[in-house]
Amino acid sequence: MNEHYPFQNPPLPYAYDALEPYIDEKSMHLHHDRHLQTYVDNLNAALLPHPELHDKSLVFLLTHQNLLPCGTQIPIRNNAGGVYNHIFYFSGLTPDADRPIPDPLSAFLIESFQSPEKFKEKFKAATLSVFGSGYAWLTIEPTGRLCIFVTKNQDTPLPAGLFPLLNIDVWEHAYYLKHYNERTAYIDDWFHIADFARANEHLLSFLHA
Ligand code: MN
Repeated sequence: MNEHYPFQNPPLPYAYDALEPYIDEKSMHLHHDRHLQTYVDNLNAALLPHPELHDKSLVFLLTHQNLLPCGTQIPIRNNAGGVYNHIFYFSGLTPDADRPIPDPLSAFLIESFQSPEKFKEKFKAATLSVFGSGYAWLTIEPTGRLCIFVTKNQDTPLPAGLFPLLNIDVWEHAYYLKHYNERTAYIDDWFHIADFARANEHLLSFLHA
């Protein structure tokens, strides 16, 4: 996430069909090659007339809205958010389904939610509570407590001071081809391929920062 203008669409870290049967190949093509690409293109278009922003990272753009020129705040918020959220989502999925949750994340989940199963229940309820389009996140607060957080549209948890560990995209484009309007079936499938090892790496980088 340290890149700057012109932003690029990084390739998926696995094959388009690698998440079958939980997420289908066609959804991954459309989601990565069209939806994410559009956010990348629109972000670059919004930044093009503003050379003073060309060395700014995605995280900077998302956390310094007050420093952005008049008229750019909303397009940058939406499109930088779309880039950040999608890269985070795709890199938080793994073809190695149903791997155990590693420590220390497992211990943090037990500390905050009593058990990984209780965490999954709460995370699923939060994900189902997203009204319209958005994301649910597992984050960690500056105090070191885990926090389930929900964002609308392409907002991120960064302005709230939260450090993200894992997210799920619940825009319908993420699941409509396979799961139709059944968000609950998509969430159940997502848990199989959610990359808790990757979330654990994010947790370690938070703890060592
Ligand atoms: Mn999406």
